[in-house]
Amino acid sequence: MTRVHTSVVVPCFNESEVIEEFHRALVVALESTGTTFEICYVDDGSDDRTRVHLKGLAAADARVRYTSFSRNFGKEAAMVAGLRMAQGDVVVLMDADLQHPPELIARMLELHRHGYDQVVAQRDRTGEGAVRTALSQAYYRLVRRFMEVEIVDGAGDFRLLSRRAVGAILSLPESNRFSKGLFSWIGFDTVSFTYTNVRRPAGRSKWGGRRLLNYGIDGLLSFNSRPLRLAIHTGLWLLLSALAYAAWIVGSSLVNGIETPGYATLITAIVGLGGIQLVTLGVIGEYVGRIYHEAKRRPHYVIRETDGTTAARPEASVREAAASK
Ligand code: UDP
Ligand code: MG
Repeated sequence: MTRVHTSVVVPCFNESEVIEEFHRALVVALESTGTTFEICYVDDGSDDRTRVHLKGLAAADARVRYTSFSRNFGKEAAMVAGLRMAQGDVVVLMDADLQHPPELIARMLELHRHGYDQVVAQRDRTGEGAVRTALSQAYYRLVRRFMEVEIVDGAGDFRLLSRRAVGAILSLPESNRFSKGLFSWIGFDTVSFTYTNVRRPAGRSKWGGRRLLNYGIDGLLSFNSRPLRLAIHTGLWLLLSALAYAAWIVGSSLVNGIETPGYATLITAIVGLGGIQLVTLGVIGEYVGRIYHEAKRRPHYVIRETDGTTAARPEASVREAAASK
């Protein structure tokens, strides 16, 4: 097999409404760049006709390959599968919903030729709800303060990675993957450019409020242990103030004799402390849960079927199987 230069990895979950249109646009954009390319679709356990479409595309064009999961494992897992499938010298990650304009790939390849290992297409927030924009901006401010790696607002998963960057990403074994953090953690020379946000032409975004909130919490917790440190600090301050308060009460009862009132103070202290203990326990529990999750060493996904070519690289699945024993 001749070596391809560019691999495009596309995770798809219930995208049957746009996938054909996306594919046409992608092929036109790739052909105009003049590189040799392959397109690696990953069907993340869609329950619509996405898999059938992908099968058709792969049968019609030797440059198209696909892997299909046995159920929905999430976009992070789909990206891992796609990166493992990709054989090119550079890999472009993009969404199937036409929110990542394929025309930008030419520009990414151009920047890669200037020596960058990661090229990020960063979207602005045109056409997005005011509330969502404000919440995301607040989140990114929070993350910048607390996280040990840098993540940038609007820099999503539309990016080009060089072969060695892909190798670095795949060498990270964690199963709780927060790829925005991982991309930043591996380092290498990174360049980004901004493009105007595009609305989804069809299908629905899979990110509701709750899912976004959980994703946000994942991001904060998966890259540092500062919430634990925060819990310790709060606990220490409370202990100190409780000791001071106790000294004051003992002192005043020695001087003035014992007064019975104090019910309100007591209840406030109990409730306040109880709340803080619960939160702290929750934070600890969250980390313990993550350790448990990692300790099981389950594979990131289970494959239902692939086109013939993908089975040619068995080392990843063998490693997975050995890890899952
Ligand atoms: N996706 C996926 N698995 C999921 C959810 C999403 O593979 O569980 C894919 C989806 O098909 C799309 C990309 O991830 O190609 C981005 O999803 P979406 O457009 O819903 O996210 P948004 O653009 O709203 O952030
Ligand atoms: Mg989208």
